[in-house]
Amino acid sequence: MKKLIAWDFDKTLAERKNGMWAQTLSEIALDKAGVKISQEKFIPFLQEGFFWHNWEKPHTHIRTADDWWEKMHPVFENGLKKNGVESVLAEFVREYYTNPVKWSLIDSAVEVLKHFEANNFYQVVLSNHVPELEKLIISLGIRRFFEKIYNSAFTGYEKPHHQSFAMIKNDFPEVEEFWMVGDSVTVDMKGAKTAGFKTFWFNPDRKKCDEEEAVDYEITSLKEFEMMMRGSENA
Ligand SMILES: [Mg+2]
Repeated sequence: MKKLIAWDFDKTLAERKNGMWAQTLSEIALDKAGVKISQEKFIPFLQEGFFWHNWEKPHTHIRTADDWWEKMHPVFENGLKKNGVESVLAEFVREYYTNPVKWSLIDSAVEVLKHFEANNFYQVVLSNHVPELEKLIISLGIRRFFEKIYNSAFTGYEKPHHQSFAMIKNDFPEVEEFWMVGDSVTVDMKGAKTAGFKTFWFNPDRKKCDEEEAVDYEITSLKEFEMMMRGSENA
Protein backbone atom coordinates (compact mmCIF):
# COMPACT_ATOMS: atom_id res chain seq x y z
CA MET A 1 0.00 0.00 0.00
CA LYS A 2 1.49 3.31 -1.08
CA LYS A 3 1.62 6.05 1.53
CA LEU A 4 2.50 9.72 1.31
CA ILE A 5 3.74 12.10 3.97
CA ALA A 6 3.06 15.81 3.48
CA TRP A 7 5.55 17.74 5.57
CA ASP A 8 5.02 21.26 6.79
CA PHE A 9 8.28 23.19 6.50
CA ASP A 10 8.60 26.05 9.02
CA LYS A 11 9.12 24.76 12.55
CA THR A 12 8.57 21.18 11.42
CA LEU A 13 11.51 20.39 9.12
CA ALA A 14 13.45 23.63 9.41
CA GLU A 15 13.41 27.07 10.94
CA ARG A 16 14.95 30.46 10.56
CA LYS A 17 17.46 30.70 13.39
CA ASN A 18 16.52 33.11 16.19
CA GLY A 19 13.23 34.03 14.56
CA MET A 20 11.22 34.63 11.45
CA TRP A 21 9.73 37.90 10.16
CA ALA A 22 10.03 40.02 13.30
CA GLN A 23 13.61 38.87 13.72
CA THR A 24 14.34 39.74 10.09
CA LEU A 25 13.17 43.33 10.64
CA SER A 26 15.16 43.49 13.86
CA GLU A 27 18.32 42.33 12.04
CA ILE A 28 17.83 44.92 9.29
CA ALA A 29 17.27 47.72 11.80
CA LEU A 30 20.54 46.82 13.49
CA ASP A 31 22.66 46.21 10.39
CA LYS A 32 21.37 49.00 8.18
CA ALA A 33 20.24 51.68 10.62
CA GLY A 34 22.41 50.84 13.60
CA VAL A 35 19.48 50.66 16.01
CA LYS A 36 18.78 47.82 18.37
CA ILE A 37 15.07 46.97 18.40
CA SER A 38 13.90 43.66 19.82
CA GLN A 39 11.84 41.40 17.59
CA GLU A 40 8.89 41.69 20.00
CA LYS A 41 8.50 45.33 18.92
CA PHE A 42 7.80 44.29 15.35
CA ILE A 43 5.36 41.48 16.09
CA PRO A 44 2.21 43.67 16.39
CA PHE A 45 2.74 44.94 12.85
CA LEU A 46 3.06 41.52 11.30
CA GLN A 47 -0.31 40.14 12.30
CA GLU A 48 -1.95 40.89 8.97
CA GLY A 49 -1.11 41.54 5.38
CA PHE A 50 0.54 38.23 4.52
CA PHE A 51 -1.25 35.95 2.08
CA TRP A 52 -1.65 33.28 4.74
CA HIS A 53 -3.62 35.64 6.95
CA ASN A 54 -6.21 35.67 4.18
CA TRP A 55 -6.08 31.98 3.40
CA GLU A 56 -9.75 31.80 2.38
CA LYS A 57 -8.86 33.86 -0.66
CA PRO A 58 -6.70 32.12 -3.29
CA HIS A 59 -4.02 34.28 -4.93
CA THR A 60 -3.50 32.36 -8.14
CA HIS A 61 -3.15 35.70 -9.95
CA ILE A 62 0.28 36.22 -8.34
CA ARG A 63 2.55 34.66 -10.94
CA THR A 64 6.11 35.65 -10.12
CA ALA A 65 8.36 35.88 -7.10
CA ASP A 66 8.76 39.62 -7.68
CA ASP A 67 4.97 40.11 -7.64
CA TRP A 68 4.74 38.16 -4.40
CA TRP A 69 7.33 40.31 -2.64
CA GLU A 70 5.86 43.50 -4.02
CA LYS A 71 2.53 42.65 -2.38
CA MET A 72 4.23 42.10 0.99
CA HIS A 73 6.31 45.23 0.83
CA PRO A 74 3.84 47.59 2.58
CA VAL A 75 3.73 45.25 5.59
CA PHE A 76 7.49 45.52 6.08
CA GLU A 77 7.57 49.25 5.41
CA ASN A 78 4.88 49.79 8.01
CA GLY A 79 6.61 47.61 10.62
CA LEU A 80 9.86 49.51 10.22
CA LYS A 81 8.21 52.93 10.14
CA LYS A 82 6.20 52.25 13.30
CA ASN A 83 9.48 51.49 15.06
CA GLY A 84 11.10 54.68 13.85
CA VAL A 85 13.20 53.00 11.17
CA GLU A 86 13.32 54.29 7.60
CA SER A 87 10.74 52.33 5.62
CA VAL A 88 13.01 52.25 2.56
CA LEU A 89 15.02 49.54 4.37
CA ALA A 90 12.13 47.16 3.66
CA GLU A 91 13.92 46.43 0.40
CA PHE A 92 16.35 44.24 2.36
CA VAL A 93 13.70 41.90 3.77
CA ARG A 94 13.77 39.48 0.85
CA GLU A 95 17.54 39.07 0.98
CA TYR A 96 17.64 38.75 4.76
CA TYR A 97 14.69 36.43 5.18
CA THR A 98 15.77 34.01 2.47
CA ASN A 99 19.48 33.94 3.28
CA PRO A 100 20.19 30.18 3.58
CA VAL A 101 22.82 30.83 6.25
CA LYS A 102 20.00 31.92 8.57
CA TRP A 103 18.13 28.61 8.27
CA SER A 104 18.72 25.30 9.98
CA LEU A 105 17.13 21.87 10.07
CA ILE A 106 15.07 20.59 12.98
CA ASP A 107 16.80 17.78 14.95
CA SER A 108 16.87 14.43 13.18
CA ALA A 109 15.15 15.76 10.05
CA VAL A 110 17.57 14.11 7.62
CA GLU A 111 17.58 10.82 9.49
CA VAL A 112 13.79 10.67 9.58
CA LEU A 113 13.36 11.68 5.92
CA LYS A 114 15.85 8.94 5.03
CA HIS A 115 13.93 6.40 7.04
CA PHE A 116 10.67 7.05 5.21
CA GLU A 117 12.47 7.18 1.86
CA ALA A 118 13.96 3.76 2.56
CA ASN A 119 10.48 2.50 3.43
CA ASN A 120 9.10 3.49 0.08
CA PHE A 121 6.95 6.45 1.15
CA TYR A 122 6.27 9.36 -1.11
CA GLN A 123 7.23 12.59 0.66
CA VAL A 124 6.22 16.11 -0.29
CA VAL A 125 6.51 19.54 1.32
CA LEU A 126 3.27 21.45 1.83
CA SER A 127 4.08 24.92 3.03
CA ASN A 128 2.73 28.44 3.23
CA HIS A 129 5.93 30.14 2.26
CA VAL A 130 7.94 32.70 0.33
CA PRO A 131 8.79 32.04 -3.33
CA GLU A 132 12.36 31.04 -2.42
CA LEU A 133 11.30 27.96 -0.43
CA GLU A 134 12.77 25.47 -2.87
CA LYS A 135 16.14 27.24 -2.81
CA LEU A 136 16.15 26.94 0.98
CA ILE A 137 15.28 23.25 0.74
CA ILE A 138 18.14 22.72 -1.70
CA SER A 139 20.62 24.63 0.44
CA LEU A 140 19.62 22.58 3.47
CA GLY A 141 20.49 19.46 1.49
CA ILE A 142 17.08 17.76 1.66
CA ARG A 143 15.60 18.39 -1.81
CA ARG A 144 16.13 14.81 -2.98
CA PHE A 145 13.67 13.42 -0.46
CA PHE A 146 10.64 15.11 -1.99
CA GLU A 147 8.60 14.10 -4.99
CA LYS A 148 7.16 17.56 -5.09
CA ILE A 149 7.10 20.87 -3.24
CA TYR A 150 3.72 22.52 -2.79
CA ASN A 151 4.56 26.12 -2.04
CA SER A 152 1.58 28.42 -1.51
CA ALA A 153 3.53 31.30 -3.08
CA PHE A 154 3.15 29.50 -6.42
CA THR A 155 0.07 27.31 -6.00
CA GLY A 156 -1.96 30.30 -4.83
CA TYR A 157 -3.56 28.31 -2.01
CA GLU A 158 -2.57 28.78 1.60
CA LYS A 159 -3.18 26.07 4.18
CA PRO A 160 -5.73 25.36 5.57
CA HIS A 161 -7.57 26.03 2.28
CA HIS A 162 -9.04 22.68 1.21
CA GLN A 163 -7.44 23.02 -2.21
CA SER A 164 -3.92 22.84 -0.68
CA PHE A 165 -4.63 19.32 0.45
CA ALA A 166 -6.81 18.32 -2.50
CA MET A 167 -3.97 19.15 -4.93
CA ILE A 168 -1.81 16.47 -3.37
CA LYS A 169 -4.54 13.86 -3.48
CA ASN A 170 -5.18 14.64 -7.14
CA ASP A 171 -1.50 14.37 -8.03
CA PHE A 172 -1.00 10.99 -6.38
CA PRO A 173 -4.05 8.86 -7.26
CA GLU A 174 -2.16 5.64 -6.50
CA VAL A 175 -1.66 6.62 -2.86
CA GLU A 176 -4.01 4.98 -0.39
CA GLU A 177 -2.98 6.73 2.80
CA PHE A 178 -2.06 10.40 3.21
CA TRP A 179 -0.33 11.72 6.31
CA MET A 180 0.30 15.31 7.34
CA VAL A 181 3.04 16.30 9.77
CA GLY A 182 3.04 19.89 11.02
CA ASP A 183 3.41 22.13 14.04
CA SER A 184 0.22 24.14 13.64
CA VAL A 185 -3.10 22.69 14.73
CA THR A 186 -5.17 25.32 12.94
CA VAL A 187 -3.13 25.49 9.73
CA ASP A 188 -1.76 21.97 9.28
CA MET A 189 -3.95 19.62 11.28
CA LYS A 190 -7.49 20.93 10.78
CA GLY A 191 -7.30 21.28 7.02
CA ALA A 192 -5.56 17.95 6.60
CA LYS A 193 -8.01 16.12 8.81
CA THR A 194 -10.97 17.50 6.86
CA ALA A 195 -9.28 16.39 3.64
CA GLY A 196 -8.95 12.84 4.94
CA PHE A 197 -5.31 12.85 5.95
CA LYS A 198 -4.02 11.12 9.03
CA THR A 199 -2.64 13.97 11.16
CA PHE A 200 0.56 14.11 13.22
CA TRP A 201 0.99 17.19 15.35
CA PHE A 202 4.64 18.10 15.89
CA ASN A 203 4.57 19.69 19.32
CA PRO A 204 8.12 19.92 20.74
CA ASP A 205 7.12 22.64 23.22
CA ARG A 206 4.29 20.50 24.58
CA LYS A 207 1.65 23.16 24.09
CA LYS A 208 -1.92 22.45 25.03
CA CYS A 209 -4.22 21.49 22.20
CA ASP A 210 -7.63 23.19 21.91
CA GLU A 211 -8.77 21.21 18.93
CA GLU A 212 -8.08 17.61 19.77
CA GLU A 213 -10.41 16.24 17.13
CA ALA A 214 -8.04 17.53 14.43
CA VAL A 215 -5.04 15.64 15.81
CA ASP A 216 -4.65 11.87 15.38
CA TYR A 217 -1.18 11.64 16.94
CA GLU A 218 1.00 14.02 18.88
CA ILE A 219 4.79 13.86 18.59
CA THR A 220 7.38 15.87 20.47
CA SER A 221 10.32 15.07 18.17
CA LEU A 222 10.76 13.89 14.60
CA LYS A 223 12.59 10.85 15.91
CA GLU A 224 9.54 9.97 17.98
CA PHE A 225 7.46 10.10 14.80
CA GLU A 226 9.83 7.66 13.12
CA MET A 227 9.83 5.30 16.09
CA MET A 228 6.05 5.42 16.38
CA MET A 229 5.64 4.49 12.75
CA ARG A 230 8.20 1.69 12.67
CA GLY A 231 6.41 -1.48 11.87
CA SER A 232 3.48 0.23 10.17
CA GLU A 233 5.39 0.80 6.93
CA ASN A 234 5.35 -1.18 3.78
CA ALA A 235 8.94 -2.02 3.02
MG1 LIG B 1 4.95 25.29 10.54
